Amino acid sequence: MNRHEHGHRHHDEAMLSVEDALERILDHFHVLDSKEVPLLEALGQALAEDAVSLHDIPPLDNSAMDGYAVQASSIGNASEDSPITLRVVGSVAAGELPDTAVEPGTAVRIMTGAPIPPGADSVVPFEETDEIERRNAALDMAEIGIKIAAPVGSDIRPAGQDVRKGTLVLTAGTVLRPSEIGVLASLGFDSVKVVRRPVVAILSTGDELLDPGDTYSEGKIYDSNSYSVAASVLRYGGAPKMLGIARDNLDSMNAKLREAMEADMLITSAGVSKGDYDMVKDVLAAHGRIAFWSVRMRPAKPLAFGVLDAGDGRKVPHLGLPGNPVSAMVAFEQFGRAAIHKMMGKDGFLKPRIQAVLDEPIYNTDGRRVYARAVITKQNGDYHARLTGNQSSNLLTSMAGANGLAVCPEDTPVKETGEVVEVQMLDWPEDVF
Ligand code: AMP
Ligand code: MG
Repeated sequence: MNRHEHGHRHHDEAMLSVEDALERILDHFHVLDSKEVPLLEALGQALAEDAVSLHDIPPLDNSAMDGYAVQASSIGNASEDSPITLRVVGSVAAGELPDTAVEPGTAVRIMTGAPIPPGADSVVPFEETDEIERRNAALDMAEIGIKIAAPVGSDIRPAGQDVRKGTLVLTAGTVLRPSEIGVLASLGFDSVKVVRRPVVAILSTGDELLDPGDTYSEGKIYDSNSYSVAASVLRYGGAPKMLGIARDNLDSMNAKLREAMEADMLITSAGVSKGDYDMVKDVLAAHGRIAFWSVRMRPAKPLAFGVLDAGDGRKVPHLGLPGNPVSAMVAFEQFGRAAIHKMMGKDGFLKPRIQAVLDEPIYNTDGRRVYARAVITKQNGDYHARLTGNQSSNLLTSMAGANGLAVCPEDTPVKETGEVVEVQMLDWPEDVF
């Protein structure tokens, strides 16, 4: 028994903690198969195989500066007051191979990234030479005055300093960010094998729903859940497949469900609360299994979870979100997001959690965990949370204004102003933090 379930005998026996619901849901999800994709498309995906370097990076010893490649022993006593003059025997730019060796008393003009010529063991930057004076005085550029002594190895970047040939650079499972994408490009890969993105079928249900773009008609509302959920799926790396709206009748539901069979997951909204779910139950029971849960959370207490039989023994897990727009989003955050991460091989990916001081109380009237829509700011080094006004689960603008969900635990009737609460960050705005 979960700690939170103790001493709540007055609650519905079937009420599940958020953690128990999550565990039951995640049991039905597995890491998807992998796919080779163009490098840039792999952003946010988990590597499906180790990335081993086939080259040294950099491939050759090369110059860290624009300057002159020399032998350190040629300029041992050089100084500003008594420069040592070397004969310039060649030049080498990045991408070229040097065609002249450096010998005692000679130098090769070299650009940043260019390979060090044979014989050279250090580089003197332009600023430490008399190149500009010479140029201004129209002097012979076949010679150069060196104004400092440069120890062996100065401004030389050794071959293999970044990555040695044959080393394991990124392990399978690494989630690719811009820096890892860059590292893979530096290894010469233009495509990469990653855990593929889940296709998530998204279906809204209800006779009252209009598609955005439809002419408004009285008594109807626009379907926002399809869009907020699809946008969330996209944000977390999945590929939404918009099935549109099913009407509250068997034929309409059946037709839409058939379109979901190709997906890796189906997310529906509405039709899961008591009194409403009979139709959904009948339809889904005909295509697989479905359970209706009460989850000890506010918003989003009613939740459905099931599996559709897609034929060939293939199962499509189905998450049934509540219809109210805030409930749908909050339940997606707790359960849908985790399922997508698991399918993408990104287990354990959590939203940042912070401790914040409450600037107003959060009330918990019925022993459920409250996820209050909050605006988090930083003030004098502390995070502060204020709520986005009325917390009714039908008010989607209260979600639009929030950057976090402030949590009041199940067994705490109130978190007062000034108390510290945990906040699940929905976003981490750079301008605030
Ligand atoms: P239900 O679960 O069908 O009782 O729906 C609960 C509430 O959510 C009702 O007010 C519905 O009109 C609303 N609702 C259901 N689906 C959507 C949707 N896709 N977009 C916006 N609101 C919805
Ligand atoms: Mg409905």
